[in-house]
Amino acid sequence: MSDKKLPLPPTLPPSIITSDNFCLFHKGDLSEDIYTCPKCKTIYCLECAKKAQADRKPCIKCKQIVLL
Ligand SMILES: [Zn+2]
Ligand SMILES: [Zn+2]
Repeated sequence: MSDKKLPLPPTLPPSIITSDNFCLFHKGDLSEDIYTCPKCKTIYCLECAKKAQADRKPCIKCKQIVLL
């Protein structure tokens, strides 16, 4: 017989970012128009992808240039 109580599992904060709906360029929620990296399939906002292309910034994950 044991009257030890199991400790409650720690509740995880809801700050875990899912990359499904997250733009790594502006670090926020994706807009409706999206751009998908042809190499790594990471999704960005279309607007952010346009800016990245203008600034010659590559995909944050795989460094593939943005091709629109
Ligand atoms: Zn990529
Ligand atoms: Zn964005």
